Amino acid sequence: MQKGTATTPAQILYIDDDPANRTLVSRVLSGYQFQVIEANTGIEGLQIARKNHPDLILMDINMPGLDGHETTTRMRSVPGLQHVPIVAITANITTGAQQMALAAGCDGYIPKPIDIDVFPHQVIAYLEGQRDNISADEKQRYLGKYSQRLVERLENKIMALEEVNRRLQKIDKLKADFITRAAHELRTPITLVNGYARLLNVTARDTGSGHIDSDNIVELSGRIYQSVNRLNEVVNDILNISLIESNEMQLEYDPVNLETVISSALKELAPQKNSRNLKIETEGLGQLPPVPGDAPRLQQVFWNILSNAVKFTPDNGTILVRGWVSPPGGNAENEGLPVPGQPLEQGGVIVMIQDSGIGIDTAEQQEIFGQFYVVDDAAYHSSSKTAYRGGGMGLGLPIARGIVEAHGGRIWVESRGRDLNTLPGTTFYVLLPLDILPS
Ligand code: ADP
Repeated sequence: MQKGTATTPAQILYIDDDPANRTLVSRVLSGYQFQVIEANTGIEGLQIARKNHPDLILMDINMPGLDGHETTTRMRSVPGLQHVPIVAITANITTGAQQMALAAGCDGYIPKPIDIDVFPHQVIAYLEGQRDNISADEKQRYLGKYSQRLVERLENKIMALEEVNRRLQKIDKLKADFITRAAHELRTPITLVNGYARLLNVTARDTGSGHIDSDNIVELSGRIYQSVNRLNEVVNDILNISLIESNEMQLEYDPVNLETVISSALKELAPQKNSRNLKIETEGLGQLPPVPGDAPRLQQVFWNILSNAVKFTPDNGTILVRGWVSPPGGNAENEGLPVPGQPLEQGGVIVMIQDSGIGIDTAEQQEIFGQFYVVDDAAYHSSSKTAYRGGGMGLGLPIARGIVEAHGGRIWVESRGRDLNTLPGTTFYVLLPLDILPS
């Protein structure tokens, strides 16, 4: 039985990326007993057409991915679809748009916006055999233009794919290096736990034989405790980065005293305990108003930035932590900063962490906030948090950025470049809004 009769409604495939258009056309046509199937891209339309062999295809021309012309041309080479009427529906009414659609393989052309009274009759006419015509000469001319445009699009697509491929290869290498560094970060404390646990075991056995060396036991168990803490930190960093990536980091808001948070981070880091000779100064932190935030998370932000400042500043260098309130609309220049202005429409508390260390290349100043990125090669990795040029997993700054942005703030860096001899230094800025309320 022929489709489109009173018993079997004609099946119309409508391909358009705009859901509002699809709803309108479906409503209008279903009133005329047509069965309308919708597709939202050219590729989806091709799949449905291959499977369903519709009686007529309505084709939007301007679509991302395969556009209407390309989808039509492709359909014309699919067995069974060569003769299905394809009607272009397009808002493009410039000269040549209709000829281009016909040259690409369409049988007809209906301009948008559709006239809902006339549209069903236009569709019926195409179903009953109406075909728009184009002369052979014109067809030849438009095919030439069409193939030129196809090659241009192909060239752009190839270039875009090559760029994506380069980026993926880089990410792949960063991830491979990350695995090496993460394994190293885990192995160091595991080796220590292993060694100290064995020593503790020997000591405990001696204790059993009547000789009690409680000092030794306290020291060994303390070292095991420190190493397990370090393991915990490494695992937390990895978990935090996945929380940030999936936007699932929960913040517990309280009024936070940044002076307390920053001095706790400095105390925990204690570079002097690890024989680092650095001058660490703070300015203006005592006068800062409390910021709405999650104190332990903010402490981690400052710990991460300060740990980098310590690691990348040689002995006898200086680290300055300065805080001030920046009014909305203020900019870094009029705050008297030593660097060209950053527009700061958003007001809040700014904390600057400035070191006199090796600096960061301009080209790397954005990259370092990306996951797994470290400037030095993984082969030179050392997991100390305070040793000069000690390594890390490359998660410190992405975590800091994730936490600051979850607070509605911003983090950025300025440095004149990297030079191990002239030590141009690096300055990180953290802006935390004062008016953010927990969501
Ligand atoms: P990690 O957790 O390994 O320390 P980060 O994400 O914190 O990694 O930092 C990434 C890289 O950015 C570091 O390996 C270092 O090369 C560079 N970097 C960060 N802070 C500084 C700084 N203050 N001075 C020089 N280089 C820095």
